[in-house]
Amino acid sequence: MSKEKKFVCEKNEELELDITDLGSTGEGIGKIDGYTLFVKDALIGDKVRVKVIKTKKNYGYARLLEIIKPSEFRVEPECPVARQCGGCQLQHCSYEKQLSWKEEKVANCLRRIGGVPVYTEEEYKKIVAGKSDGSKSVENTLNGTPIIMEPILRMDRPVHYRNKAQFPVGYDKDGNLVAGFYAGRTHSIIPQTDCLIQHECNKQIVETVLEFMKKYKVTAYDEKKNKGIVRHILTRVGKTTGEVMVCLIINAKKLPYPEEFVEMIRNCGINLEIKSITVNINREKTNVILGEKIETLYGHSYIEDYIGDIKYRISPLSFYQVNPEQTKKLYQTALEFADIKESEVVWDLYCGIGTISLFMAQTAAKVCGVEIVPQAIEDAKQNAELNHMTNTEFFVGAAEDVVPTQYEKSGGKLRADVVTIDPPRKGCDEKLLETVVKMAPSRIVYVSCDPGTLARDVKVLVERGYEVKRVRACDMFGGSFHVETVVGLQRKSM
Ligand code: SAH
Repeated sequence: MSKEKKFVCEKNEELELDITDLGSTGEGIGKIDGYTLFVKDALIGDKVRVKVIKTKKNYGYARLLEIIKPSEFRVEPECPVARQCGGCQLQHCSYEKQLSWKEEKVANCLRRIGGVPVYTEEEYKKIVAGKSDGSKSVENTLNGTPIIMEPILRMDRPVHYRNKAQFPVGYDKDGNLVAGFYAGRTHSIIPQTDCLIQHECNKQIVETVLEFMKKYKVTAYDEKKNKGIVRHILTRVGKTTGEVMVCLIINAKKLPYPEEFVEMIRNCGINLEIKSITVNINREKTNVILGEKIETLYGHSYIEDYIGDIKYRISPLSFYQVNPEQTKKLYQTALEFADIKESEVVWDLYCGIGTISLFMAQTAAKVCGVEIVPQAIEDAKQNAELNHMTNTEFFVGAAEDVVPTQYEKSGGKLRADVVTIDPPRKGCDEKLLETVVKMAPSRIVYVSCDPGTLARDVKVLVERGYEVKRVRACDMFGGSFHVETVVGLQRKSM
């Protein structure tokens, strides 16, 4: 590249662009003379007019001004505030296209970063038929023995799937009391009580809270002044049990008019059972939503729900998967890939409240779970008890510390038949992967919410004697760019 090479685009320039790809967070990508522009809300196949807002050496960002010719995949978002709200990035894309894009994203990462020849069924068919366009990383010929992904686990309908909602409460510019969502990357609240991906009962609950606040002159919290009372409304719904929790997060020692509040919420008109009404005290000047203290105003401090046959107790503070129907499919897939025999020992790393551990404990001789958050481990132990499971043991601490320490302690004798790994987005520490390899499990099941770090870690395992046997993606968050993946690996016989 010559030093004199000028930017093709200037800031504030308006231009026409063909969107030819989607970036990792669902934004449209178009190229002008080899210079890449990222355009939020533009879709692959769109012809658009944009305004350049930021330029860097090799790429820039532009704002969508007009869709000149819409993509064949473009649909009208079902949610009226989809574009302002930061929550769903792909509501303007047909669900079918969202799913195939997510599958391709996983295969692409596993090939490019992981060095493993994983293809979606579509990609494979095209290559075999000689119809691959040879674009991106999809070659025209197969590289090694191909691993064909199993079809993505899809939702029946990607709406009303979440079981947990957190609505910030505040005032709009005219001083009206509102609850809704933060506009993408800001803290200004878009009034919206009827979110498309939340449970339908939220609308009545949130509107009743606002009515209560108006009637009894209970103020909303003002972040800038650190004044006012109600900060957030948290709701949780047990999708299987139909139990509902309402938790008000307040900046005060006590909620004024608690009995009136309980009365109004219990009579808010939803046809599910309100089992828990609580307040959570958060008096800190912070972005963190929940404080530590919970006070029960009505019923229990928790609700209960099931994933498959396993029962979970959920408090306002506990972590619980937000899409239990898809979680069930995801963990059934993990269980299938793990193929556990009754005599086998499983280590479940990054176990949270023991969701996967308890699933595996239904078959395994013993399951050991490792998790960094002490409260989650308390919940995991309680959940094991609730389900009368006595074949589990849980360890608190970072997996990359606990597992190597236990391995050392055993004098290098610690073994597992199966290891399941379900880390946060940043993936695993290499030290952990090395110890896992030393424990010589015959199967490793890696559940991941980030295809990039998944592929990086799979590469390490493949280099150390494992081979990828099965790959399946799961759509837990329809309308968003997120995708979950399960990879089943097997130890090669030495
Ligand atoms: N398997 C669980 C949780 C998965 S989310 C479930 O499906 O419910 C990832 C979990 O990893 C979180 O609970 C998080 O607290 C935990 N975690 C994050 N870093 C960790 C680390 N270094 N060691 C162990 N656990 C960790």
